[in-house]
Amino acid sequence: VRTIIILIAAAAVVVAAGCGGDAGGSSGSSGGKRVVAGFYPLAFVASQVGGGGVRVQDLTPPGTEPHDLEVSPSDVRDVLSADHVLLLGHGFQPQLERAAGKSGKVIRLLDAPGVDPHPSDPHVWLDPVRFAAVATRVGEVLRQPERARTLVARLHALDREFRAGLAHCAGNEIVTSHEAFRYLAERYGLRQVAITGISPEAEPTPAALRRVVDVVRTTHATTVFSEPLVSKRLAQTVANETGAKTDVLDPIEALTSAERARGDDYFDLMRNNLDALRAGLRCR
Ligand SMILES: [Zn+2]
Repeated sequence: VRTIIILIAAAAVVVAAGCGGDAGGSSGSSGGKRVVAGFYPLAFVASQVGGGGVRVQDLTPPGTEPHDLEVSPSDVRDVLSADHVLLLGHGFQPQLERAAGKSGKVIRLLDAPGVDPHPSDPHVWLDPVRFAAVATRVGEVLRQPERARTLVARLHALDREFRAGLAHCAGNEIVTSHEAFRYLAERYGLRQVAITGISPEAEPTPAALRRVVDVVRTTHATTVFSEPLVSKRLAQTVANETGAKTDVLDPIEALTSAERARGDDYFDLMRNNLDALRAGLRCR
């Protein structure tokens, strides 16, 4: 038994030395690892898990939609010089994925164990349980398993808040402007009815709009949800047509400048979402 323990301890030292050894060469003067993230939720996980040991850069500017992000030449330089590049992959940000290429420092988090994405739906961060699997993977990449476990525990607590908060509701249809809430809906027994598709800028056809209006009427949904970064015109159109009201459900794809100024983070925005859902679905 003693031999095994010693061998494992020796291996751990070698791994730690290897990790520290390459940091000096490629990272900047502050000494920490440089992590580039494709958009806000991944940047949030990287800074939570990395702590003071990493410098995190979010390539999606505040208040900007990350779907189909256009990368500048300076973004490409930042990607190429980073120690780790955190992306979702699966075509969520195709230009960025092409620029990042296939090097070993590029982590495609939709492929992480336990994330289990549906084909073509990237919005896994809106399910706290899947997002916890993302946090665990980032903990491996940044060699911070303890800090990752702390974040995972907070995400599982958030999952319990959603479970309890949505357990007894009069409605279960969430009518949204963009089809971002499938994972959240599946996790908590809700049904998503989306006005547009997976990408928020898509224009709905008149037939799709009529279908949503019909669903709102037949289910007596009280609320049509829009989101902070996209015009609420579509949600307002359906609301006017049906007598429902509008509220905000945030797909948390980027922080607005106001949210940044307030210091809001993923957990604050998810709790705002829970409050909006509880009001819209008349939960007790
Ligand atoms: Zn989206």
